[in-house]
Amino acid sequence: MTIAAGTTTTVRRAADAPSLITEDDLPPARHFIDGTFVDPSTGRVIDVVDPCTENVIARIPEGTAEDIDRAVAAAVAAKGQWGRMTPRKRSELLHAIAGRVADNADLLSRLESANTGKPLAVSRDDVDMTVDTFRFMAGAVRATTSIAAGDYAENHLSLILREPLGVIGVVTPWNYPLLMAAWKIAPILAAGNTLVIKPSEQTPLSTLKFAELVEDFLPPGVLNVVNGYGAGAGARLAEHPDVNMIALTGSVNSGRAVARGAADSLKRVHLELGGKAPVVIFEDADLAAAASSLRVAGFWNSGQECGAACRVLVHESVADRFVEQLVGEVRALSVGEPQAGDDVEVGPMVSKAHFDRVTGYLERAPKEGVRVATGGGALDGPGYFVAPTVLVDVPEGAEVAREEIFGPVITVETFSDEEEAVRRANGVPLGLSASVWTENARRSHDIAARLDFGTVWVNSHLVLAGEVPWGGFKGSGYGRDLSLYALDDYSRTKHVMHNHER
Ligand code: NAD
Repeated sequence: MTIAAGTTTTVRRAADAPSLITEDDLPPARHFIDGTFVDPSTGRVIDVVDPCTENVIARIPEGTAEDIDRAVAAAVAAKGQWGRMTPRKRSELLHAIAGRVADNADLLSRLESANTGKPLAVSRDDVDMTVDTFRFMAGAVRATTSIAAGDYAENHLSLILREPLGVIGVVTPWNYPLLMAAWKIAPILAAGNTLVIKPSEQTPLSTLKFAELVEDFLPPGVLNVVNGYGAGAGARLAEHPDVNMIALTGSVNSGRAVARGAADSLKRVHLELGGKAPVVIFEDADLAAAASSLRVAGFWNSGQECGAACRVLVHESVADRFVEQLVGEVRALSVGEPQAGDDVEVGPMVSKAHFDRVTGYLERAPKEGVRVATGGGALDGPGYFVAPTVLVDVPEGAEVAREEIFGPVITVETFSDEEEAVRRANGVPLGLSASVWTENARRSHDIAARLDFGTVWVNSHLVLAGEVPWGGFKGSGYGRDLSLYALDDYSRTKHVMHNHER
């Protein structure tokens, strides 16, 4: 491939713009337990940093096992009443929550962008989808039934009941702090469970604000938020004997740790882990449509997206043409701080540690023969900005094609036939999502069926809807977010059999 490398991207700054948030916008820097914000068990705090400026914008308490135990006790005490509530009543409360979030969309978007650096367009979309998730679950829980009652053994009437599990522990990541919380909280509450959520230590502000905004709708103890690190508060939640299920969205290693912690109490485990989505582009695909779709799907949320279109496998006969179009799209991306304009498309990496991780991949890549077509490194600080990058000449099995980079980086590999495309697409341990690009319907059905991923798009990528499930295969975990499948995951079925012989 003959594209010349080079980065002309600069970070758009908003030096004179007012700060995104004021002191008044911040939630209380405490835990939310039993319906109120409470003092933590220790004075230890965690700095919350704005990744555009590297400034500390808040300090939250570092939750301990003691704080988790207190929150779980509140959730246990609340579960009976909440679980017995009719679906209609719970549905009304979820609708009320959706309305409150919608009314505070601007505040929540600004808070999310201040904490993560993500463009306001992304934060607004997150809040919009949060509202939709609560509305969907509010409706779905009223329409959910079990299979019809009947006599399946002579003179015995069987009823199949759907029950809440009890108390659910939830651990969320930093990439979509509010939205990932909503994907758990809405179905968990709809199904009649109570919960304790531990947001990412890096991005707790929108979850705490959410609790503050909806506290008057929920009985005390139904929703509890405990701040803290994974190894402390998160691990205690996973192992707690009174927690009936632990649901984590995060990295594969955290998933393993949570599953191990859950093993002794044999609680259910629900894991939404990493992704490394292949984008399989055949020679008959609409290349321009694929390139412009990847401008969004590869760089949405600065590539810090588990379904990001990050790994292109393109037929060798059209590879040069496709790369040229893709590079054109990527070079046109607008990188900047959230206040720099509504048209900013790419923000910084969420933290210094993550920035180092992403740039580390870019520094090592040339040693495996990989070439930079555009981007390829850090942008000027302050802040943790990385240039939108396309890597070409990527050999099979290269580190950048195998591991989840979770940044604004697309790799391009080539293949010569369908068998090779499918084998290489499936040749990673993760199985969250993938896409196929072809104008041939027989081929798209067949290839989609052979791809080992929980979601496969055809001539599209990263389009989600509340009605359809989201979740992975293989190393991407198990359990489903969104849709009726999530409601099902947070419920248990009970068979009650009546002898009515006379
Ligand atoms: P992370 O695993 O570092 O952290 C996620 C959460 O797990 C945090 O709250 C953290 O404190 C907690 N945690 C860490 N170790 C723990 C432990 N031992 N016990 C309990 N909790 C622990 O992940 P991250 O860096 O915040 O998020 C990025 C990862 O999340 C990526 O791998 C991404 O693919 C994945 N992700 C997946 C989805 C999905 O739907 N599949 C969605 C978003 C993010």
